[in-house]
Order: sequence, then C-alpha cells, then structure tokens
Amino acid sequence: MCGFTLASVDLSMLSCNLNHMSSPTVTDPKVLHGVPVVAGVAYAPVIRPGARPQVTEQSAAELAEADRPAEVGRLKEAAATVATRLRDRAGHATGVASEVLATTAALAQDRAWLGDAEKRINAGNPAPQAVGAAIAKIADALSKAGDLMAERVTDLRDIRDRVLAQLAGLPEPGVPIPDNPSVLCAEDLAPADTAGLDPRLVVALVTTLGGPTSHTAIIARQLGIPCVVAVDGLDEVPVGVPVMVDGALGTVTVAPDAAEAERAVETSRVEADRVAQWKGPGATSDGHSVAVLANVQDGAAAQAARQTPAEGVGLFRTELCFLNRDTEPSVDEQARIYGEVLSAFEGRKVVIRTLDAGSDKPLKFAGHPDEANPALGVRGVRISFGNPGLMTRQLESIAAAAAATGSDPWVMAPMIATADEAKTFADQARSFGLTPGVMIEIPAAALLAGRILEHVDFLSIGTNDLAQYTMAADRMSAELATLTDPWQPGVLALVDMTARAGAAAGKPVGVCGEAAADPMLACVLVGMGITSLSAAATAVPGVGAALSGVTLEQCRAAAEAVLSTASAADARAAAFEVLG
Ligand code: PEP
Ligand code: MG
Repeated sequence: MCGFTLASVDLSMLSCNLNHMSSPTVTDPKVLHGVPVVAGVAYAPVIRPGARPQVTEQSAAELAEADRPAEVGRLKEAAATVATRLRDRAGHATGVASEVLATTAALAQDRAWLGDAEKRINAGNPAPQAVGAAIAKIADALSKAGDLMAERVTDLRDIRDRVLAQLAGLPEPGVPIPDNPSVLCAEDLAPADTAGLDPRLVVALVTTLGGPTSHTAIIARQLGIPCVVAVDGLDEVPVGVPVMVDGALGTVTVAPDAAEAERAVETSRVEADRVAQWKGPGATSDGHSVAVLANVQDGAAAQAARQTPAEGVGLFRTELCFLNRDTEPSVDEQARIYGEVLSAFEGRKVVIRTLDAGSDKPLKFAGHPDEANPALGVRGVRISFGNPGLMTRQLESIAAAAAATGSDPWVMAPMIATADEAKTFADQARSFGLTPGVMIEIPAAALLAGRILEHVDFLSIGTNDLAQYTMAADRMSAELATLTDPWQPGVLALVDMTARAGAAAGKPVGVCGEAAADPMLACVLVGMGITSLSAAATAVPGVGAALSGVTLEQCRAAAEAVLSTASAADARAAAFEVLG
C-alpha cells in the first residue's frame, strides 16, 4: 500500500453572487499589491473557481480481486469522459486557448499516470486512491525537475481533480460561467480553467500564486484582459465584492469608489483604442528610432508576428522547436525550420538565438548531466563546451537557411558569462559568415559588457534571467515574484551599465526579456540607451504606442529617476511621475 490515500471528495461549489447591491459589506477601499502582467483596468465583482476535491490521507479498504477489472474500466471511462469534454471545449475555442485545452485533454489519457494508476488498482487500490497516488508520484518528479517542468504540476493536478470528480459522479470543478462581467480571482488557475474564457464576461484575472510566465499570464495576454499575479491578501476578498484591477500598476482595489473606478476603466479603454491605432515603426514622439521587434519560437509564430507592426524578430528561441526531440535534428531539417522564420520576415531584421537548452528547457539530445542545481549548471552556450559539434552544426544550419532565403540574420549565444566565451562564439559565427552577438543574462556579463563588446557586434539583454541571477531568485517561483520583477533597481542598474557600454562602443544593445513587453518600462529602457525592444507579438502595439507618446528627453528623465530608487515599487512610481 502507498502511504497516501484518498477517502473523501468534496466538490461543493462556492456560491457566486454577482449582484453589487447584495455584496458583502467592505468598508474602506483596500489596495492589494501583486505583480502586474497585462495592462488595463477592469472593475467588476469577484468570482472564484469551484472548490477542488479534498484529498485526505485516510486509507481505503482493499478491493477484492474480482472487482479490480471493473474498477480499471471505471477509471478508463472517467479519464475518457474528462478528455472528451476538454476536446469538445478545444473545438469551440481558438488560438492558444484551443491548444491549451487540447494539450490538457491529451494529458487526461496520458499513459504515464494512467498506466501507473491501473497497476495500483490491480494491486487492490480503489480508483480514486490509485489516481491520487499515481499523479502525486509524477507531480513530485516534475517538481524536482524545477522551473517549466514544475509548472506542469498544476496541469496534472487539474486532471486529477476532474477525474476524481467524474469518478465520484460530481460536477466538473472549475470556473463558473458568470451572467455578468466579473473578475476571476483564484489561488492559481489551471490551463483548462482559463482557456476558452469569454473576455466579455471574465474581464480580469487575479491570482495569489503564479509568476509572469505562468499559464494565467499567457492566457490573459491572449484574451487581452488585465492580469495581476502573486497578489498578497487576495484570498481574503469574498466572492461578490466589487474590485478594480489595474494590470499596469499591479493593484487590486477592494470595494473602490464606483464612480472613480468607472472613470479609470473608461480612461484605460481610450488608451486601448489608441494602442490599437499604432502601426509603427518604433520611435519616440520626437522621432528617436527604436526598433520594436517580436519574440518567436517557430515559423507559425513568426507568421503571426508578421501580422502585427513588429519590424522584425529580436529573439528566435530555437530550442523551443526541439523540446520533444530525442535526437539532434539534421542540418537540413534545422535549416528548413530556421528558413521558415527568415521567410516570414523577409528583408527584415531577424536575431536567431542558438540553443538555450538546460534548466527549464532540457533537450534530450543535448546530453544534460544530472545536476543538483540546473539553473546554475550546464545550460545555454555551456551545452556546447562538451559537445562543440552541436553549436557548429546549428551555425551551419543557420548559414544554410540564410543562403536559401537570401537573408542576413544575426546570431546570438545565450548565457554568456565571460569575454572569452563571447570571443569563441563570435569567431565561430563569423567563420559561417554570420553577424555575432551575445545575450546579457548573467551579472558578470553586464559588469564586463564593454570587454565583451570588443568581440561581438551587438548585445541583447535577457531580463528574465538577468533578474533571476541578480536577485538570486528562481524566475518561476511565485513566492519570489516580487524579487524577479524587472523593475528591481539592482536589475535596472545592470541594464543601464550594459546600455552605456553599447553607447561607448557604438554598438546596438537590445532588450528581449519580458521587461521589453512592459510599455512604461520600455520607455525607461530607451532612456537608458537601449536601441531595440523585443517582446511577445501581442505586446508589440502597446510598447510602440507608449514610445510614440513620450519624448526621448522624458525617457531619459524617467531612466535617471528609476536609477535613484531603492525598490521596484518606487521605481515604477518614479517612472510614472515622469511619463504619466
Ligand atoms: C531572458 O532570459 O530574458 C530571455 C529572453 O531568455 P529566456 O526567457 O528564453 O531564458
Ligand atoms: Mg534567458
């Protein structure tokens, strides 16, 4: 018997009171703070997802041998029903929402957990207990793998809860479909909860957990609704209470003055209309040019980005093309894949990053060693130290794609720590006729940016990792999300230092981390001397529109102001004061 059993399942749905008049009484407006993810203001009453099954540790009676085949059948049927429901919803959704639902549907019938649960039933465990134990085992292994793998634990637990509810003959757990516009508040949201939400009814997402790269954030970006994550005190806000969510400031005002909140929503709607009008190219209102580019992961994403005003690709994350591959793709296959991105942005700037494998993005064919601390281990450019052919074959593929499409891509290496590493990469890239640059993601590289620039033609700052390594805080940790905030003055000081090194060398320095997707921070970065901004395609219009509304002088004043602050909140406030 395993040490963990599931004896009771309680799926009582929380009541969902959407009537302002009958809201629980809350006196003074209280402002809760979190990490801003998607800008915009929404004002509506709170709804919450239905309660999840309670997993208890009481042991269950062993199944008689004769009952075991039927119990296996019951489990398979429950898993199939859950998968069918999710596939059905995938069929009615579009884009990322549809993909997320289809992936979750596949997970509902994944052999890894289902096979293990079957074995447990055949050993005498009742189905609910077998499901709980099988998923707990896999979730534990994924949590230990860290980062992106750990994020999949939420998906798996969501499947567990749906299957348990089905086995118990209870309604599906998840988000209630509201009758009126509502703000969805939750501890965390599973992809199947958020995918397919109607943005006319769910007007903002707010979570107690979750980081800026969580599923909640991805779906909110796609839906274009304000989103704030890692909000302290959110769990205490009752269902039905009206809240105002400001996705730019990262605030949730509980029971605000209604007239004031409605004015803020209207101002934000006018701003959203202005953003939608922006068609590029990137420049401040007084004509200082800044390339506004897109981050992509394959040809399809590049085609989608081409529909936005993005002027090119500032970061092509090549490793994301091969996450499911057991063996290294051939030079021809790689060249074909890279060529798709180059063709989508024919004649435009495209920056291709060499494989950033390891840590949260392991590649089976990269031969990662078993490491206690993979984020500080053999990742990024380091995978080529013990396997130099991996890098040369990729550069050969990029050169072949460039020749086939008549393009002139720039190439950059991730996770560069020393000037020597930059020189080695630059020599290799130039031997293939490619323009070399490196990413600045490690504080040592930012501190010595000037010496690195003696070898390469450009720099691109990865603020996601730069924040993680500067603040010694895991970028996927919800508990540490306020530390990995790119507005942290310590991170901004290193960005400023790198931009200055670029200006002194007369070479371009871009930003391609999530910081570049934040319209107000983008203006600050330009004030520091950053020459290009590369962000998720959906963030491109917001960034371009923000830049077009301020002068270079304002950007410089905002940069100076944030550099003298002592906290991320003060840095935001200082920039807001200057930029409005
Ligand atoms: C970064 O670290 O900011 C970056 C752009 O790289 P990735 O997010 O792919 O690690
Ligand atoms: Mg990085």
